[in-house]
Amino acid sequence: AKREGRSIIKIFEPVMLYSRQLRSQMAAELRGAISSDELILHYQPVVELATNRILGVEVLVRWQHPLRGLIPPDTFIPLAEEIGVIHDLDRWVMSNSLRQLAEWRKDFALDDDFQLRVNLSAVELKQLDLVDHVRSLLRALHLPAHSLVIEITETAIVTRGEVEMYSLLSLQQLGVGIEIDDFGTGYSSISYLRELPVSMVKVDRSLLVELNTRTGQLEFVAAILQLIRAAGLEAVFEGIETREQADQLRALGCASGQGYYFSRPLPADDASALLATTRYL
Ligand code: C2E
Ligand code: CA
Ligand code: CA
Ligand code: CA
Repeated sequence: AKREGRSIIKIFEPVMLYSRQLRSQMAAELRGAISSDELILHYQPVVELATNRILGVEVLVRWQHPLRGLIPPDTFIPLAEEIGVIHDLDRWVMSNSLRQLAEWRKDFALDDDFQLRVNLSAVELKQLDLVDHVRSLLRALHLPAHSLVIEITETAIVTRGEVEMYSLLSLQQLGVGIEIDDFGTGYSSISYLRELPVSMVKVDRSLLVELNTRTGQLEFVAAILQLIRAAGLEAVFEGIETREQADQLRALGCASGQGYYFSRPLPADDASALLATTRYL
């Protein structure tokens, strides 16, 4: 048993060392990534399911690393939270994507209700100056507050801290849309749907994955949709990958959604080209 134990250590130690080393190196690099313009923004259209009209876009950040290539957010957002860089990162994303929105509105005569959806980390809601920051950005760019929707994961809001509630209420008062993201993944209690100052719920894509394979999943999704509606909120589905899924959700009366079936997240240039030519997907 002893020999076995030692050989396990021998096998895993170099890997652990390597990844620990890589992590601390990446942490150092991430600190500099924002100032050296290595973060880039992709935009994924959100469509009205009844018409395929583009209602807006969700902004999704990527890290264009000079050596490692394009790094997806799932690998560096948790690291950014851990090393305290997430605040700068989220604000960088917010101001740059709002600037992009202002440009699009000017260049392509977008509908007044075209929405930019921005993901915010849970820690951002604890920042007392968040609301002022958002207000002054919108004002400087001459953007109506309703053109911004902030997406926050449910685990971030169910704790209901005082500052978090103040931030949500003030943003909502300002006219900014608030959406619970990844609904159906955390330890969610359904009562908070009626108590939190939110207006939209984005249902996690894991609920759609089994839509066409698991017995009863369509009924399950239908029930969730009804629950969200009964709470007076609007439901948005993410991760729509097939025409069948889009059809099924439309038949259930779901108003809007996004996913690879309609469009992958697009680099800014491609998103611009799309919005320049059409409002429909
Ligand atoms: P999320 O907010 O739940 O974003 C949806 C993710 O699903 C995105 O991954 C998107 O590219 C992907 N997706 C969209 N449609 C489909 C589909 O049809 N099929 C599949 N399989 N996937 C689809 P992405 O871009 O890798 O982002 C991952 C997560 O990183 C986001 O999850 C969000 O939590 C976080 N994130 C992204 N940008 C930011 C940001 O600016 N700030 C913060 N705090 N977090 C961000
Ligand atoms: Ca999101
Ligand atoms: Ca989500
Ligand atoms: Ca997510």
